[in-house]
Amino acid sequence: MQSSDAEPIVRIRDLKKNSVNFVLENVDLSFANSFRRVMIADIPTVAIDMVEIETNTTVLPDEFIAHRLGMIPLVSTMCDEAMRYTRDCTCEVRCQYCAIELQLNVACHEANTTMHITSNMLEVVPTNKPGSYGSYDTDDGGEELAKRVENFGHPIGKDDPDVPPILICKIRMGQELRVRCIAKKGIAKEHAKWSPCSAVAFEYDPHNKLRHTSYWYEYDARAEWPLSENAKEEDPPRDDVPFDYNAKPTKFYMEVETDGSLGAQEVVHKGLQELQTKLANLILGLKPEPPENDAFQSGAGAGGGALGGQPNGAHDSSQLGGWGMPPPMASGGSAWSPPRAAGGAAGGAWGSSPARTGGGGGGGWGSPAAAPWGAPAGGSAASGSSGGWGSPAAQGWGSPAQQTNGWNVG
Ligand SMILES: [Zn+2]
Repeated sequence: MQSSDAEPIVRIRDLKKNSVNFVLENVDLSFANSFRRVMIADIPTVAIDMVEIETNTTVLPDEFIAHRLGMIPLVSTMCDEAMRYTRDCTCEVRCQYCAIELQLNVACHEANTTMHITSNMLEVVPTNKPGSYGSYDTDDGGEELAKRVENFGHPIGKDDPDVPPILICKIRMGQELRVRCIAKKGIAKEHAKWSPCSAVAFEYDPHNKLRHTSYWYEYDARAEWPLSENAKEEDPPRDDVPFDYNAKPTKFYMEVETDGSLGAQEVVHKGLQELQTKLANLILGLKPEPPENDAFQSGAGAGGGALGGQPNGAHDSSQLGGWGMPPPMASGGSAWSPPRAAGGAAGGAWGSSPARTGGGGGGGWGSPAAAPWGAPAGGSAASGSSGGWGSPAAQGWGSPAQQTNGWNVG
């Protein structure tokens, strides 16, 4: 066992364009798993979000086609800076900063042939073209466009003969597909099509010394369960050493595979960044006095209740909140919300999730409407509906009533 204050170590075993295999040491199991989940669900990419079907005489129904289009990975390099969420944009509906238009226009005129409609036939409409979605809105001088790579928003592998295109539909003579698509920035917490990863997995304790796994076997578990490759990295268990029930895993064998929208390296970096941001917001939220004159104070008061209040729902302001927080913050001040979520009243969980799926009154984590964690319910300001932790009325952590796009979902 390593000492618990040892520095985390990352050792890259294999790095390819779309996959990376590395060993992560001296971190907690919970950290390794948070890292995995953040890479899967919290890194923004671009994906087709709206489809306008002009003609569809193929054998597949419109919905089917729309779904298949949504699942096509689009080049999303530096998506964080190169594109805005529509909800954060200054435009009315969509513009070149928050939307990319793609068109597909294919018809088969040849007899006795089956034509394949593939992702390579999707054409990105240049934003400066008159009449395109990108041009009708005012230009507010954003820097996003300058940060885009040349093929930003294009289907992956479009210009690469070594990458086989993605089949959308097959057509025969007389059949046609003509659609207009709007691609948007999003994260996989809202829809899996925005995930940059096709798979993220990790293994720890390949010898099962910690006994976190119970093997099913006929006669002999060791003979019937061959060891993984990672077992070579660790000492085999010795029969003369007693079982250490206090032992914790410290070494994690991680494998990240992307769908091509982002490179593996970018996914890992962005994943760490995102996790850091989340933890920074948590620390900020637990600070006794939130900074003045910023977005954290917006949305005061109403609704209340996500994580606030005492477990018994009492509103006695003489009591401290459950988590040892100093007494009253400004009543109703929403200590949790990071600035970018503060705008939308219906904010989903923790700022990073899209507001439009946040649901009406959903007071998730970091919703501007939520009362601060553990703070007293603040007299009458945030009373009423404010249920405590574990109360069925609460909309927060672990509550069955939670419908928002929060941490517990998906
Ligand atoms: Zn816009």
